[in-house]
Amino acid sequence: MRAVQSNRLSRKALLRSSEVAGTLDPCAVLAVNVASFAGGLVLALSMSSVALKLLGSVLITAGIVRLFLVGHEACHGSFFPAKILNQVIGRIAFLPSMTAFSLWDVGHNVAHHGFNNLKGRDQVWTPYSKEEFDQLPRHRRIMERVYRSGFGWGLYYFVELWWKKLYFATRKEIGSGRVKYKLDSVLVSLGASAWTTEVALVAYRTGQNFWFLAMFAMFIPFALWNTIMGFVVFVQHTHPSIAWYHSRRQWQEARAYLTATANVRFPLRIDRLMHGIMEHHAHHMNPRISMFALRRAQRRVQRHAGADALSYRITWRTYVDCVRRCKLYDYTNHAWLNWHGEVTARIARGDTAPAS
Ligand SMILES: [Zn+2]
Repeated sequence: MRAVQSNRLSRKALLRSSEVAGTLDPCAVLAVNVASFAGGLVLALSMSSVALKLLGSVLITAGIVRLFLVGHEACHGSFFPAKILNQVIGRIAFLPSMTAFSLWDVGHNVAHHGFNNLKGRDQVWTPYSKEEFDQLPRHRRIMERVYRSGFGWGLYYFVELWWKKLYFATRKEIGSGRVKYKLDSVLVSLGASAWTTEVALVAYRTGQNFWFLAMFAMFIPFALWNTIMGFVVFVQHTHPSIAWYHSRRQWQEARAYLTATANVRFPLRIDRLMHGIMEHHAHHMNPRISMFALRRAQRRVQRHAGADALSYRITWRTYVDCVRRCKLYDYTNHAWLNWHGEVTARIARGDTAPAS
């Protein structure tokens, strides 16, 4: 019944009804986000008040997050109508978050969007089975506990995603090695060098301590960026009612692009500041839907998909419950487990086919 309901809405039809033409809106978004990043830098570098420097750090962080979302959309080929603009502006928009464009493409567009919640393909917050976890070296088990403690998002994103897969990633980590991955990583390094040089020049000219300035203008924003991103990608695909899959057949039958993601709304409508990225069913139904049309598309998906499309407002209580339950995953019986391997949540029948 559930499958019949949501099959009425084809992924292509959703895209067609959500197309946004023109370059004016994208240019305006780009200008606002660059202004946030640059304005934050001015505050963090030139103000003597620590409070204003911290405000600068917040603005830089907002600029990094929102420019990253521009880059994310450009990498999907849908920020500008012209492919070349997406390729060029996407690379520039990714510089503050130090994301290598082609590495993001292979990890996100190909692996994550092509196979979300399928173990072995999707690399984002993939849970270990109890057997796998028990076989990990001690230090890795400790790291996994920290990552899934409810506060480890930043560390997870920085180590497991950015460091291993998005910056000079090795063939061992991503399964292939291409020149463009290295070139994009070099580009990101040049961007970071320019950022560091700017901080050093201001420190020299104004007689301020370099490390003090770098803390407000670079380290705090970059740490906050990793934290926000790690949290966002955690809640988008992890929930006691969301399944993970080992079997490709089960994964296909379950239509994980719809049933294994959540539309999460944040307090104070903060999600509205994030260029629609929390309208995640619509984004997974068709990643080419523009950020300017995602909310409308999400409403349409939810009308058609009903209970298949998990949508909820996150609170401290729902978040703690999610973290407490979602430590390890039983891929055979489809249940979330705690660190001892005890069942904390069973995926409801109908969300997934029985194990074969
Ligand atoms: Zn995407």
